[in-house]
Amino acid sequence: MAHIGIDLGTTNSLIAVFTDDGPELINNSLGSPLTPSVVSVDNGTLLCGDMAKSRLVNASGLTASLFKRSMGTDKKFKLGKNNFLSEEFSPEELSAVILRSLKADAEAHLGCEVVDAVISVPAYFNQLQRRSVQAAAKMAGLNPLRLINEPTAAALTYGLQDKDAESTFLVFDLGGGTFDVSVLEVFDGVMEVRATAGDAYLGGEDFTEKLAADLAAEIAEQVGEPDPSVLRKLAEQAKCGLSDKHEVTLNATINKVDFTTTVTRERFEAACQGLLTRLRRPVERCLYDAGLSVDDIDRVILVGGATRMPMIRALVAKQLRKLPECQIDPDHVVALGAAVQAGLVGKNAALDDVVMTDVSAFTLGMESSQTIGGSLKSGYFMPIIERNTVVPVSREIGASTGQIGQTRVTIRIYQGEAPTVKSNIYLGEITVNVPKNKQEHEHITVRLTYDVSGLLDVDVTILSTGITKSMTITALAGEISQEDIEKTRKTLERLKIHPRDMDENKHLIGRIEQCYAMARLVDRDELQNLLYKFETVIESQVPADIERLRGEIGDILNNFESSYVR
Ligand code: AMP
Repeated sequence: MAHIGIDLGTTNSLIAVFTDDGPELINNSLGSPLTPSVVSVDNGTLLCGDMAKSRLVNASGLTASLFKRSMGTDKKFKLGKNNFLSEEFSPEELSAVILRSLKADAEAHLGCEVVDAVISVPAYFNQLQRRSVQAAAKMAGLNPLRLINEPTAAALTYGLQDKDAESTFLVFDLGGGTFDVSVLEVFDGVMEVRATAGDAYLGGEDFTEKLAADLAAEIAEQVGEPDPSVLRKLAEQAKCGLSDKHEVTLNATINKVDFTTTVTRERFEAACQGLLTRLRRPVERCLYDAGLSVDDIDRVILVGGATRMPMIRALVAKQLRKLPECQIDPDHVVALGAAVQAGLVGKNAALDDVVMTDVSAFTLGMESSQTIGGSLKSGYFMPIIERNTVVPVSREIGASTGQIGQTRVTIRIYQGEAPTVKSNIYLGEITVNVPKNKQEHEHITVRLTYDVSGLLDVDVTILSTGITKSMTITALAGEISQEDIEKTRKTLERLKIHPRDMDENKHLIGRIEQCYAMARLVDRDELQNLLYKFETVIESQVPADIERLRGEIGDILNNFESSYVR
């Protein structure tokens, strides 16, 4: 059976397989291992990946991106009428469309059905977000064998390369939408996560937004209010351009007027000062929780596309007094590690001497009451499993009923680091009947069990009767029912998301349209002509002609795309 690992990213998603030669990325039908995490509706058909991405500017109202940032919330993305039936998509449904496409790519590559998979999640994803990823996988017809924390996956990829060395490393993972830091120790093939910290709402996209806000004022002054999707695209291109160059010149047509400006690294960095400050805290906390100082760290590993920004590398080097490493492409390293974990779960012989342990990122506990000034006051948080405890873990605490004679007790479970529950995340609750006891309080025990995927089970036992009631935290606010998962799975199964043989043509047309939207007025005629020419050759249905023209136009578009940012 194939050992499959998936990186379901904010901006790009990847799928990899563990082979006898180690982990290996699988390309999509366009020949790339990166499938943009974008879904679009075109004439009622669902598109995903590159074809959907090329519609972000021209069909922004029909296209959804960055939905990983909304996992675990009830946000809906309205994409218009389509063959999926509903016009509105949950972040889980959009993720399921991407996962289905990755699954199809892996099946085409491996020549067998792919069901079991290890899926990576930001270490800082909470219970709700983890459950959402599991639900999305099931909707896509996958069995999420296990969830692996992204920095842990990255460390597995690096650790495997150098598994006999003894070292302590810090993984700095800044993706499109999330930030994770983990400290790990590696010795004799054993990889142990010591601590993890992060921010589930901070990523490269926030840097794009800061630059966009900075550019918006200048554009508005010169040529009027820009279209938000064009503005975002320009900011994204400038951000990536500034990773290679000291300054970039932006050229675009906005409100039918040519606009040009120059952005320097200094200007970009000044716009992002607040974000840079936010990145320092989790690093400090992770070191503190691991009981280590900066000098104890031997290696610093960079993961996630956003670590390509020079200001991030400088920040890391300054804070950790070490040059960060990134020998393995930061876009690939998580998917490769997820495949290694799949190999470990599947007991692949090549990994016999490798052991990996991970920790929980959050403190888990229950609501408790305290006697304050003679009366019972609820709303306090009682920790049961402290953050950064090695998983799997099971811990129990004793409690008793609040009132003598009460016949029901409700245990509310929370996650977080605040002393009161109102500042923590509510996970769910469990209500149990207790025998009426007029003499004294009834005693109960509450056991929390945290599994290797970071998912939680709760058992409540009434000591006088020995009766235990259990629940997996599924009664969550916003939890998707098994029924709904099954319904979406069946719909997606029936649905041809997009005809794979037309991928390349559709993608090229999307690119022409996107260039047209961004191009200077003088260039638009040429782009229009390319579109006519290409549509004409498609009509001819001669594959060799289509392929030749696709190559020629692709080269011309490369030139156009690089001319927006010089
Ligand atoms: P990931 O979630 O790891 O795929 O990271 C995606 C994030 O990395 C997005 O915010 C991208 O804009 C950002 N990114 C990708 N390439 C670059 C680059 N060359 N310079 C700066 N940011 C980049």
